[in-house]
Order: sequence, then structure tokens, then C-alpha cells
Amino acid sequence: MIKRATATIRQGSIGGEAFGFLRRASPVQLIPLHLRPHVGTALAFAFALTFPLLIDRNDADIDSAANALAFASLALGLNIVVGFAGLLDLGYAAFFAIGAYTYGVLASAQLMPAWSGFWEPFQWLHLVARVHQDSGDLVHFTVSFWLMLPLSAAVAALFGILFGAPTLRLKGDYLAIVTLGFGEIVPIVVRNWPSVTNGAMGLNGVAAPQLFGYSFGVTAMPYYYVGVGMVALLIFTSTRLKFSRIGRAWMAIREDEIAAAAMGVDRVKFKLLAFAIGAAFAGATGTYFVAKLQTATPEMFMFPVSVMILVMIVFGGIGSVWGVVLGAIILQVLQSWFLEDLSQWLHALGRLIHVEWLQHVELASSIELIFGVILVFMMLYRRQGLIPATRRVQALSLSEQTAQVELAAAPPVKRLRVLGDATYRGPDPLLEIKDLTVRFGGLVALRSVGLTVPAHSVVAVIGPNGSGKSTLFNTVTGLVAADSGSVHFAGHPIRGLAPHVVLGRGMARTFQNIRLFPNLTVLENVMVGMHARLHTGPVGALLRLPGTRREEREAREHCLEILSLFGNRLIPRADHVVSSLSYANRRRVEIARALASNPKLLLLDEPTAGMNPAETLELAQQIKSLHEHGLAIVLIEHKLDVVVSLADNVVVLDHGEKIAEGTPDVVRRDEEVIRAYLGRSAAVA
Ligand code: ADP
Ligand code: MG
Repeated sequence: MIKRATATIRQGSIGGEAFGFLRRASPVQLIPLHLRPHVGTALAFAFALTFPLLIDRNDADIDSAANALAFASLALGLNIVVGFAGLLDLGYAAFFAIGAYTYGVLASAQLMPAWSGFWEPFQWLHLVARVHQDSGDLVHFTVSFWLMLPLSAAVAALFGILFGAPTLRLKGDYLAIVTLGFGEIVPIVVRNWPSVTNGAMGLNGVAAPQLFGYSFGVTAMPYYYVGVGMVALLIFTSTRLKFSRIGRAWMAIREDEIAAAAMGVDRVKFKLLAFAIGAAFAGATGTYFVAKLQTATPEMFMFPVSVMILVMIVFGGIGSVWGVVLGAIILQVLQSWFLEDLSQWLHALGRLIHVEWLQHVELASSIELIFGVILVFMMLYRRQGLIPATRRVQALSLSEQTAQVELAAAPPVKRLRVLGDATYRGPDPLLEIKDLTVRFGGLVALRSVGLTVPAHSVVAVIGPNGSGKSTLFNTVTGLVAADSGSVHFAGHPIRGLAPHVVLGRGMARTFQNIRLFPNLTVLENVMVGMHARLHTGPVGALLRLPGTRREEREAREHCLEILSLFGNRLIPRADHVVSSLSYANRRRVEIARALASNPKLLLLDEPTAGMNPAETLELAQQIKSLHEHGLAIVLIEHKLDVVVSLADNVVVLDHGEKIAEGTPDVVRRDEEVIRAYLGRSAAVA
């Protein structure tokens, strides 16, 4: 069963995002499912390559197409930042400007320092030329376009990290405002640094690229083909990154930052990575753009450009690689081809029906208004964009749903070997908390709480609402800072460590109010849980060498086996988006996600909340079998029968203080516990 599920899921995800719309057409059905995306890609590129020959248009139109390709590259870059990692960047054009000026300055006569022996090695490398002048020789920068493409990408990436490091702590609107600021600052600096950038006048005489001694000059055709190559490379890069450990980490951050951190994703690192890669795309595009125009002025990189790229992404489909390319090309072509024609038609119409104002409409000058209208219509009628990033899978049929309820009633699957060796055998207790105090302003959420979890045990934490149980979990896992006390895990102090480090040590958790990644599938959610156990970096994701492929395949199979721990509840839904799941199934996915990190200790915060008695019993049995396998568990639970059946030891909290501790039977009879739980009258009776 698992094999079959794996096969279908694998096929489905290679199907990718782009060509789902092709599936409805009948001739397309002749092509095997797994080949369709490749056929689609091949057709797209065949079209792109033959396009200048197909149309009987002039150089200006090919030039517009080349500009459209530049915007497609920018959209792909911003898509990594906004679409994948969910970081709203309103100043993206800043990186476009940095890339543009990096090339512009190093390939023009703007900077001409005096010649000295220092420059000689650079002359040998053809990076500079010596210009003879009466007043003394000067240096002329002649760095090649082809060298500058990756170099300005690297420079822009560096600025991405520089801008990102102080700002990426911010979220949502705050981040948007700060990036807006960067977007404004860069053109201002450019304008006010005339010695390097020639100020508002802009750079002139930027060298055109050369290939085998042939200069591209001002004809659009060669630039068009460089643009096609660039977009192809960036599509490839984006797709490879998206469907990898890196892409999953970005999307986890986008969906729920806290949960991503708790599942082992280093937020700062991955946000910076997204910022740097996005900036690199813009940097290379800037070089391309300036080489094509052979000039650069600060006006080319102002705020409206950032907004335009953002609109292209939203129009095409945020997070969808092919979508944003399509969005960028359509909007750019609309702007440069059709608005002129459309204006002419309106003028003609105005003359025909004698309407004065129609004869003077200039649509090209109201392009921002038109973009705004497009955006409003997209929001109203097709929010997910032209090509949506997430494919919705059809809900299971009624018979499929009832079939699995019967199956799930069978005893839990004995496939626990997938969990690896979770047992901790060190001399110290697995978790030891001493004198832990946590304050929220005046409120003391935990007061000198101590708790010991021996290896291979189940400890239940109970107490009325607001007694500090969840705060205990949050503090231990690094989400909330403690005011005093110590926390040791497997003998090592962990208080104050970042959440992703705590997970790396072998402690995984679930949340009281389920925190899944809503727009990812069940399988993707669980695979994020494996993040800390996998090693693929950006280069590995890009090259996808055999080692990476193997890691990915094994991770996928491992996760499917973990899903199968929950009988037939999750497996049939493995490629369903979790937001379409029932409440109980979401709880199961969250536990599966925690298990995927191969923990030694599992912290479950009210896992059976919202489940009916049958489901509660089923989950309790599953928790029990996890325990039998050797996993230590701390359980926050209100249902006392569950506590009694599972826990070796019970800790009772009330108002942030530990009021009792002992075996379930002892605690159940403790008067203070009864009072805290049921009120004074119950204690007396
Ligand atoms: P429990 O899980 O036992 O129901 P909690 O640990 O969620 O209780 O909350 C304990 C107390 O701490 C409550 O009074 C709650 O309002 C408070 N609290 C929890 N988290 C925060 C926070 N981030 N900021 C301020 N107060 C908080
Ligand atoms: Mg709670």
C-alpha cells in the first residue's frame, strides 16, 4: 500500500504546478503523466527560440520581448522572496539598481583613475585598458559582460544579506516598510554620488556585450536570446530550489514562522538565503538591462518598478514559477505592444462617434492605473493568479472515507522501526527542569517549577486552564525566555537555545492550537519535520546529484511510513493540502511531523482536544505504542482517563505552581488537586 501511495505521490509532485491546465485537453492525454511537464517546458522554449522568426515584426518588438524577459527574471527573483519565503519586499528594485550600476561603472568611462603599475595585472586579464592622454595615462574599465553577470549577482546578493540581516527580524507590514525604505535609499545614493554614478544624468556609453569578437551593439535580437537563456536558467534554479529541502523550509517559514522554527528550520539563515538569492537574480538582470540600454539613470529603479514586479507576481500566481514568468511577460507585452494600438483604436472610435475625450486618451501614460485595475480584478475573481502555486486534490469520495474508518479500527500498525533508535541511555534524566520561573510582565506564568522526565517514561502535566502548562512547553523548547531556573536535556543545558537548536538536540513538540503549514500537503508538512535530519544545501538542491536524490527519496519514504502509523487515516490524504483536513487528522499530522524529526522526547500539548471518544481511544493507543518503542513523552492532557492509562508520573500545575506530583492514582486522590480541578465543594464531598 505504501509503495503504491509513494508512486502516485511522486508522479503527482513531478507534475508540478504549471501544466495542470493542459490535462483537460484530449490530445494531451496521450502523453504519459510524468512526461507532460517536460513536453510543456520543451514547447515553451521552442516557442521562445523561434519567436523572433515567427513574427514579422520590427526590431522594436523584439526589443519589447527582451524587456519582458528582463521583467520575467525580476519576477522570478522576487517570487523567491515573496512567494516562497513569504517576506514582503517593497524595495526589490534596489537590487536591480545595484546590479545595473555594478556593471555600468565597470564597463564605461565613468571611473578613470590615473594609470599605475597596480593596474598591470588587470590589464593582462583584460579587465582594464590603458588610455593614453597628454596629461598622463588613465585606466579605462572594460570588464566583460559575461564575467559581470555572475559578479553583479554576487554583489547584489551581498547587499541582500547586508540589508536583510538587520531587518528580517521584522514581519509583515514592518518588513514591507523597511524594504520600501531601502528601495528609496538606493536611487537617492545613486543620484547623490556623481563621482561614481554620474548622478541624475546617469551613466553613458556602457559597453555592449561581445561574443567571439562580435559586439551586440544596439540590435535587439542577440539580447533577446541572452534573455531567453537567463530566464531559462532562473526557471530551472527556482524550480529546483522550490522542490527541495530549501524550498520546503522557505514555505514553512511563509506558512507559520513559529512552527517552522519549532520543527528545526533556522529562520534567520533561510530568510537571508531567500533574500540573497532573490537579490542575485535582480543583480544579474540589472547587468543585462543596462548592457542592453547602454545607459543607466536612477529613474529606472524607482518605487514604481518594485510595485510593477510585485503586480506581475500576484497576477501570475504568487509562489508559482511558471505563473510569475507568464504574468511578467503578459503585463510587459501588454504595456509595450497593445496599449499603443489600443489608444489608436480608441482615438478612431472617438472620431467615429464624435466623443472628444476619447480622441485624446493615452493609455500608456496611465499604466499604473491599469495595473491597479488588473490587480483588483485578480483579487475579486482569481486570487491565486493565472497559474496557482498549489494544486488542490479532489476530496476523497464518501466510499473511500468510510472504507478507511473501518480500516483504522484495526490495531495500530507495528511499523515502529521507522522511528529509528529513539531511546536515550545516558546516566542523567532525559529532561530535568529546576526552579523554572517565567513572567509575562506582572503575571507569573511559572513559579519555581521543577520536573524530571526519566528516559523511557511518560509524564503527564495537568492543571486548570491558564495554569502555565503550555508556557512550560514554550519555555523548554525555546519559544519563550525563562527568567530563572535551569533546563537540562540529556545532561546538557538547553535553556535559552533557539527553537531549531532544541529540536536538533532531539526534542519535538506539538501545539495546543494546531500549528501546521496550511497550504502545504500532508506529506510536505511531515517532510518539514525531517528538515533537521537532512543535509541538502542550496548547491545540492540545484545540482540534484545522486546523493541528494537518494536523500530525498528516503526522506519521502520515511515520512510515508510515519504517516502509516496512523492506520489509514493519513496515507490516502498524503498529497492533500492540510487545510482541507478534519480537526482530528490535523492533530495526527502534527504528531507525525514531530515524529519525523526522530526525537528522543516528544512533547504533546493536549493531543486529544477536540476528538470524540473513539478517536481519543485510538490516539491514546498510538501514543502508548510510541512509548513502548522507547520514546519518552510529556503529555499535557485534560482527559483523566487518558492520563491514567498512559502516564507513569503526573505533575499538577495550578496558577504557575506545582501543587502535586506522583503516580496517577496518588494524584487523583490528592485533595489539593481535586480542589484545583473541581472546586472546593467537590473536595469536601
Ligand atoms: P495553560 O496551557 O495551562 O492553559 P498557559 O501556559 O497557556 O496555560 O498560560 C499561562 C498564563 O500565562 C495565562 O495566564 C496566560 O494568559 C499567560 N500567557 C501565556 N502566554 C503569554 C504571552 N505570550 N504573553 C502574556 N501572557 C501569556
Ligand atoms: Mg495550554
